[in-house]
Amino acid sequence: MSDVEERHIGGLTVQIDRLLCVGFGDCLEEAPETFEFDEEGIATFKEEAGGTEPSVVVEACRACPVDALSAFDPDGDQVAP
Ligand code: SF4
Repeated sequence: MSDVEERHIGGLTVQIDRLLCVGFGDCLEEAPETFEFDEEGIATFKEEAGGTEPSVVVEACRACPVDALSAFDPDGDQVAP
């Protein structure tokens, strides 16, 4: 698995930097339909992640204490963190 995972969710491009993630789980609490832990305890995207409301995803990205999650709008502008 690469160090950065990317998924398109409701017009947003969302990235997980798996090297930065320390597994606090804040993102899972904010958006349990989007993120889950893999077997290493690092955040990854759920299969059904694409169906999440974009505003929920942005809040989840902002909740990450180590800024491991980034979200970009369709113009490529960063909207989180
Ligand atoms: S909130 Fe950040 S550090 Fe915590 S599990 Fe999610 S991506 Fe990892």
